[in-house]
Amino acid sequence: MIGGSINKNGLLKVRATRIGQDTALAQIVRLVEEAQGSKAPVQRLADRVAAVFVPAVIIIAIATFLFWYLVGFDLFGNMPAPRFIFSLTAFISVLVIACPCALGLATPTAIMVGTGKGAENGILIKNGEALERAGNVQVIVFDKTGTLTKGEPDVTDLMPIDGSENELLFLAASIEKGSEHPLAKAIVRRAEHMKVDIESPIDFQNLPGRGVKATVGGSIVLLGNRTLMNESKIATDAHEADIQSIEEKGRTAMLLAKDSRLIGIIGVADVVKPTSAEAIAELKRMNIEVVMLTGDNRRTAAVIAKELGIDRVLAEVLPEDKAKEIAKLQTEGKVVAMVGDGINDAPALVKADVGIAIGSGTDVAIESGSIVLIKNDLKDVVAAIQLSKRTMRKIRQNLFWAFGYNTAGIPLAAGLIFPFFNVLLPPIIAAGAMALSSVSVVSNAALLKRYTPEIKREGKR
Ligand SMILES: [Mg+2]
Repeated sequence: MIGGSINKNGLLKVRATRIGQDTALAQIVRLVEEAQGSKAPVQRLADRVAAVFVPAVIIIAIATFLFWYLVGFDLFGNMPAPRFIFSLTAFISVLVIACPCALGLATPTAIMVGTGKGAENGILIKNGEALERAGNVQVIVFDKTGTLTKGEPDVTDLMPIDGSENELLFLAASIEKGSEHPLAKAIVRRAEHMKVDIESPIDFQNLPGRGVKATVGGSIVLLGNRTLMNESKIATDAHEADIQSIEEKGRTAMLLAKDSRLIGIIGVADVVKPTSAEAIAELKRMNIEVVMLTGDNRRTAAVIAKELGIDRVLAEVLPEDKAKEIAKLQTEGKVVAMVGDGINDAPALVKADVGIAIGSGTDVAIESGSIVLIKNDLKDVVAAIQLSKRTMRKIRQNLFWAFGYNTAGIPLAAGLIFPFFNVLLPPIIAAGAMALSSVSVVSNAALLKRYTPEIKREGKR
């Protein structure tokens, strides 16, 4: 039951399974808030610098006071203030202008805007660390089923031997109507999509391991594999090449016979998501190595990998070995990201430097990933990396500005310009400069709001 549901007639009984803090929305809000409050590793660098910076500034301020009070004051004639006041003014100016608040703001402001920007684009970043690491990823490992592919079969081939495509679909969908089998659902869905009217089958028989049999429109119809056709003495030899061409692509070939004659072949397979190839191509352009990791058999994996342009394939990997494969890549000294949707991907998502979970995937995967893609679109993997790079660039700019103000300001405040202009930087101007550095750092971070990841821009390539 989703918002906007309409009850046309009758009585609806609705049970709320999750309320308040447990709803998906509340969880998303919490994830984003946690990320915004978390420290990125680069922040720890800023903290370390600040720990040295503060005592250094105090020492410089004291040295400034002592210099002017004991030596400097006597070097020049016509001083604008008494000895003690003059020395104290320089001391205060140094302390004020060196205030490292811009340094403290540089990272958190950018992380906050960056994670918010991610959420806006359907990319939930759970912590600052994930946001920082995403930009440094060197290898991305993709799960196959449900991540690169849709995770459910679709009709890929319609080969009528006798009659039209619509006739073939009409018979196949009618006989499979009501079946819960994923292959059957794929056929019915295609028929509905092509607006083919479906009949209800009579004398429906499920023949396990072979297919189905029923009467549709007065004819006996069979739908299944070679074994079913052979058992019913229906010749398939003349069309063996077509059947094999489907099977070579890692698809399932379903044969349809009507009144003891083969009238068509339907290919069904789990197909790749429409944007997967574009995302992979973009990652390769960004010099990121792409690997496919799947429990599926080598042949199917190879077909999908070839379609998407993935060169490195690890197939027939047991669920418990997926994390080990990630660890193996990490021992090569690489920063590894894992993208997955299933329960079997969860350990690999945690093991990877950056775990990216598909939002339509299982709860366990979502819990294990440090980045969650709400839309089922792999282009968001690219967008997350681009956003990370841009945010890190902002942080570096911010740190530069924060340090820049301080290092440029301290000598001025200490009285370096006095010998030339006979004035000392007044503390009030020092305070203004100090505040301006914070303003410039915050405004620079806010500029990130206007950023759109390159792959999401209109008319891109
Ligand atoms: Mg999967």
